[in-house]
Amino acid sequence: MSAAPPETGFGRAKKALGQHFLHERGVIDRILHALDPRPGERIVEIGPGQGALTFPLLRAHGELTVIEFDRDLIAPLTAAAAPLGRLEIVHRDVLQVDFTALAAGAPLRLVGNLPYNISSPILFHALAHADAVRDMHFMLQKEVVDRMAAAPGSKVYGRLSVMLQAWCEVTPLFTVAPGAFRPPPKVDSAVVRLVPRPRGTVAIADPARFALVVRAAFGQRRKTLRNALSGVLDAEGIRRAGLDPGARAEQLAVADFVALADQPAPQD
Ligand code: SAM
Repeated sequence: MSAAPPETGFGRAKKALGQHFLHERGVIDRILHALDPRPGERIVEIGPGQGALTFPLLRAHGELTVIEFDRDLIAPLTAAAAPLGRLEIVHRDVLQVDFTALAAGAPLRLVGNLPYNISSPILFHALAHADAVRDMHFMLQKEVVDRMAAAPGSKVYGRLSVMLQAWCEVTPLFTVAPGAFRPPPKVDSAVVRLVPRPRGTVAIADPARFALVVRAAFGQRRKTLRNALSGVLDAEGIRRAGLDPGARAEQLAVADFVALADQPAPQD
């Protein structure tokens, strides 16, 4: 029989909310070290949970905004944070939070041990507000971080790699074993740094068309571009982008997708 969890006032972890609470001090310190918060910065933590990152961050930085969906965590977080600094709690689904409005002109440094069940939607949500974000330090499933950082030719290079690398510099930092969390997840985790590319350096003319081309190209990754992009771009358009219609999406660099998205859709 396993021992009952220690009484913390925070209650039990909720699986539906992807709750795996960090407890290993060494991992917490490494995340804080990677983040390296400086006075005056606008730091926002996604999913503070029981405060594993929140409380040391608050102690170090004096003020912090957190976004937490679980109502049961709001009161204990508020109480535990009071002696440490100024904690602003946004009690909402992070996918409904307007990061641009939250930033109010001061670019956000996002940090969080993310709920793994919605990690990709959170990444895409942050990308949609990339102008309001200075950088992001996220704990994710290692398998997701591998996909985010993959290079062309890799088995795990795909839509997530291209979409994130087009808008951000992606740097995997370190791997974390399941035992660092309570309860332990079934998979290894990893911490990744994302830095949105400066405005004006991303040569994507039409983000919606870029997203459409990338989605179609990887929709059936074994197909040639000619087949995968049918309806989105014809063989002539693929050639105009300087690419071989017989190539496959997994061989293309991010800049190749930008060139494809620059070509007009075929007229019917
Ligand atoms: N940061 C804590 C830690 O490292 O121990 C908790 C991390 S836990 C993996 C994910 C946290 O995200 C939980 O606190 C969970 O309640 C919260 N969460 C889950 N879904 C959310 C959502 N849609 N919006 C905001 N927070 C959410």
